[in-house]
Amino acid sequence: MIRVLLLGGSSEASAIARSVGDRPDYDLTVSYAGRTRERVTTPGRVRVGGFGGIDGLAAYLREHRIDLLVDATHPFAAHMPHHAASAARHCQVAHLRVCRPAWTPQPGDRWHVVRDLEHAADALRAFAPVRVFLTTGRQELAPFARVDDAWFLVRAIEEPSEQPLANVSIVLARGPFAEPDERALLVEHRIDVIVSKNSGGHAAEAKLAAARSLGLPVVMVARPPGPDVPTVETAEEALAWMERQPRRVQRSAG
Ligand code: NAP
Repeated sequence: MIRVLLLGGSSEASAIARSVGDRPDYDLTVSYAGRTRERVTTPGRVRVGGFGGIDGLAAYLREHRIDLLVDATHPFAAHMPHHAASAARHCQVAHLRVCRPAWTPQPGDRWHVVRDLEHAADALRAFAPVRVFLTTGRQELAPFARVDDAWFLVRAIEEPSEQPLANVSIVLARGPFAEPDERALLVEHRIDVIVSKNSGGHAAEAKLAAARSLGLPVVMVARPPGPDVPTVETAEEALAWMERQPRRVQRSAG
């Protein structure tokens, strides 16, 4: 039996939980920040909510005698990967980050790479007045409120709790999305420019192919810097790493 704390929030986390959640040789707890009202259901014990920073996570690792910490938070989770790295180091718990590769521009792409959402909002001024397809997530609309000569089509999984944009239409949908549907959406709404986070992965990349085929620019938000820790790109690689870990891990008391 090996006790695993899996930090969730990505499709890779869900895949890992589906693979080991029912196995008798793993005792799996999946942890979520609790931002979404409807979570993907996976096997394994679930806990929800922050740990209280690095110290809180370290206390949890000790109290629950966690053997493996698998951080499969989203590539745009800015804090949790650093907290996981510090807490695991402090508690001497084996630790792995799962982070899918970023998208890279293809021939024909018109990307404007920016460092964060504030800079994405600034970049839109170059296109104004403009019709924007905004795919950065329902909790990250605020930076775009000051782009007042734009109309936004916002796609989100759940209805935003706060909606700060003046000219907006919201479409609720969860990927994966297909390129023909994405192209039709862009044409129907007469979109001029797309704003996307560079999340990587297949579920959301069809919009980039659709933009390429229509010659539309994409304001692409780069990822936040991650910790320098052992990292794999896929759930399969993470599972292989988990299989390689000894079933009884000797840990110091600290
Ligand atoms: P973040 O900046 O890294 O995390 C902020 C705080 O939320 C952390 O300090 C931690 O609180 C808590 N937290 C984050 N992930 C957690 C987890 N798996 N279990 C328990 N607590 C967690 O991340 P975020 O951008 O706010 O995203 C929150 C969650 O949504 C993450 O789990 C991420 O995987 C998921 N998500 C994020 C995005 C995105 O674009 N940012 C997209 C899809 C999914 P404490 O310090 O109190 O422990």
